[in-house]
Amino acid sequence: MAATAVAIGTMKVAQVSGPNGDFQVVEREIPKPGRGEVRINVQACGVCHSDSLTKEGLWPGIQYPRIPGHEVVGVIDEVGEGVAEWKKGQRAGVGWHGGQDNTCVSCRRGDFRNCKNLKIPGISYDGGYQQYMVAPVEALVAIPDSLSDVDAAPLLCAGITTYNALRHSGALPGDLVAVQGIGGLGHLGIQFASKFGYKVAAIGRGGENAALAKKLGANVYIDSKATNAAEELQKLSGARVILATAPSSKAMSELIDGLGPNGKLVVIGATFEPIEVAPVQLINGSRTIQGWAAGTAADSEDTLRFAELSGVRPMVETYPLEKAAEAYARMMSGKAEFRVVLTM
Ligand SMILES: [Zn+2]
Ligand SMILES: [Zn+2]
Repeated sequence: MAATAVAIGTMKVAQVSGPNGDFQVVEREIPKPGRGEVRINVQACGVCHSDSLTKEGLWPGIQYPRIPGHEVVGVIDEVGEGVAEWKKGQRAGVGWHGGQDNTCVSCRRGDFRNCKNLKIPGISYDGGYQQYMVAPVEALVAIPDSLSDVDAAPLLCAGITTYNALRHSGALPGDLVAVQGIGGLGHLGIQFASKFGYKVAAIGRGGENAALAKKLGANVYIDSKATNAAEELQKLSGARVILATAPSSKAMSELIDGLGPNGKLVVIGATFEPIEVAPVQLINGSRTIQGWAAGTAADSEDTLRFAELSGVRPMVETYPLEKAAEAYARMMSGKAEFRVVLTM
């Protein structure tokens, strides 16, 4: 119980030196939380595809060196001034939503998710690839006792993104919902969709993941390499929602004709290439395409509560913090099964 004894000292961090720079594992002074902030003794941090925004310098204005990581779970070991609602020793996490300004038009409407000055851990400030991290209270997520650090971490970006996108998609129990991609996002999307009571069609390239997709809760598996996935969805009367998780704009474009009447393609797999769609594809059947980004700390708590109730869990591969470079390369290879998590 040396929580206060570590206030002065050094810690290990995995930082990116500059755009496209290598990971460096270095010692840094343990940071002190400021007003309205807490310090988290990090136990686990997920490695997300969006960490490439920091690693490759794709997000404008990043100050380097920068420590990535926005799937952070740990224990609060110091609270800053003015923090009354969080205590030392309490388990807490931080996800993609790392704080809002509370003053922009979106915030004034209560739409914190779309804050104009949204802060993102690992981009706007140092994230979770380190032993101690400072975070503002509005970004904090309470972690239920029944979830392990390693299981909870991926739920704070991959989990909340699939859960929140699906619960706001308009699909109702019994509707056909397709999940494109069986990876870090998709393997959670299939589980949530199944537990929400949808008829779930999992779409993967090749047959390797067919048995796993069924085990995760898919009713139907569609191999988009062997068949025309859009036609297969139409044989099932068309999808109410297609959750597009794999970062391939081409694969997403090919699925639009698989949407049923009023069907919606919900895009969460982040790419920079355009999706191709002809206006008539959208006009026929009043189809829509919508993007979705994560959610607030309260949405994360909903995600964790639902995971706790329903048994939804990520499948993870863990790496020690010192091997952050290897962990990141594994995630980028697309071969991880399915979420890579750093442990401190
Ligand atoms: Zn993420
Ligand atoms: Zn705002």
